[in-house]
Amino acid sequence: MAKATTTMRQVLRKAQAPPVGAEGNYQADYAAWFAANQDLFNRVTSFYFGVIQAHEKILELGSMDALQALEKLTHTTQSNPHPVMPLSEIQEDIPAMFRRAAINAALGSARSFYSSLGKWRKRKEKAQAKGKKFTERPPVPPRSWNKSATLYAGLWKERAGSSIMIKVWTGSVWSWVKVRITGREIPTGVEMGSPQLIRKGNQWWLHTPIEKQFKSPGKIEKQVTTNEQTKICSVDLNLDQYLAVCTVRTVEGSILATKFIGGGRRVNGLRKQQLGRIARNRRKTGIIVEGEQDNADLWRKIRNTDEQVAHLVSARIVQFAKQHEASILVFEHLGNLKPAKGKYSHRGNSKRAFWMKGRIFKYAKYKAYNAGILTSRVNPRNTSRECARCHSLVARYEEGKPAEGYTYGAPLVLCHQCGMKGNSDRNASLVIGQRLVARYQKPSKEKPHTPLKAGRVEQSTISANLNLH
Ligand SMILES: [Zn+2]
Repeated sequence: MAKATTTMRQVLRKAQAPPVGAEGNYQADYAAWFAANQDLFNRVTSFYFGVIQAHEKILELGSMDALQALEKLTHTTQSNPHPVMPLSEIQEDIPAMFRRAAINAALGSARSFYSSLGKWRKRKEKAQAKGKKFTERPPVPPRSWNKSATLYAGLWKERAGSSIMIKVWTGSVWSWVKVRITGREIPTGVEMGSPQLIRKGNQWWLHTPIEKQFKSPGKIEKQVTTNEQTKICSVDLNLDQYLAVCTVRTVEGSILATKFIGGGRRVNGLRKQQLGRIARNRRKTGIIVEGEQDNADLWRKIRNTDEQVAHLVSARIVQFAKQHEASILVFEHLGNLKPAKGKYSHRGNSKRAFWMKGRIFKYAKYKAYNAGILTSRVNPRNTSRECARCHSLVARYEEGKPAEGYTYGAPLVLCHQCGMKGNSDRNASLVIGQRLVARYQKPSKEKPHTPLKAGRVEQSTISANLNLH
């Protein structure tokens, strides 16, 4: 059995009609209560972060021991009447499970902060040992807190398909609030984790992690060698015009569908523009540092765009594979980054594009696994130069130009051997799929690859709009 974790996202709304006798609970604006609740959660989390800073050794403990140590330092009980840093100074009567959720949130933040601080110290030592100047600023602890409250058991009850009772701090009292849940229902047969109350604009959402067990997909080798109808989705990542071109084929060689995921030019243009701006700033100030305040915003924008694109593209790839019932996803290995020549913005752009391919692969692999699809990679050598039909070298050329030679990045291919003609990225994605199948074919076979069958109606879709905000 294999396990997959996903998050169920559901919108919360005011309950329609309160049960008789509980009307009082429903009249005020629950959104204001959730906001007050989150505010308190962050104050408590920030408080515990401070306690950890004052007792750094706590971070050497495991989660359970660290939690106990922090409670000992802060929580007043009969056997612990005078804790060193009482939580009651923040607020009295905080429910135990609320406190524990905040402690764990603070521990998580502290662990990640001290780990990046440790790394920074190492880099500093290394630089100083070499006698180099070290100008990188140290990481700083969070100045403001904006965590979503996690609802441990005891803070919610009576969860049904369309409603839930949540215990919240309303700003003046602790109160059970009944809210309506809308959106997809939690599937049966899953294990639910602790939900979180998430604010998105004016809306409040309930995010619930769910863990689903499923039959492990058979090993790729077994799938390919025992079932000719196994469907493989192969992906060529390019980041030029089409960010990705995917094809679905069976092991025996029928091509079932192709999808072009577009938007590459726009993403590249956007990134290049931002990198150009950073380069101009650099010329003005004479230096370029990724943390430099003037450029920090621009870097953040670039990173956000790239992250978003990687998530969108990987989701589309996996969605396409699922739609055509592919059980294997295959990419080519990324190889090494070849340093590009030219202007700063151009070099920076190809580096980012390389990084983004890696991201798309990583996210697609994860999303595919959650859908029961296994991911593999093949040798990237000449995937763009080889004819998917006869394996000769192809001519790659621009529209309107003669079909000869090899123009890197050009959109069209023609095979002079067999007459195959088409989109070059699509050809590459077919070659990638063939390499996976070829890996498991017996070397004694005369033909090195399964020939592709033409004929069956193939669906081809182009989706060019990536919605970026
Ligand atoms: Zn050919």
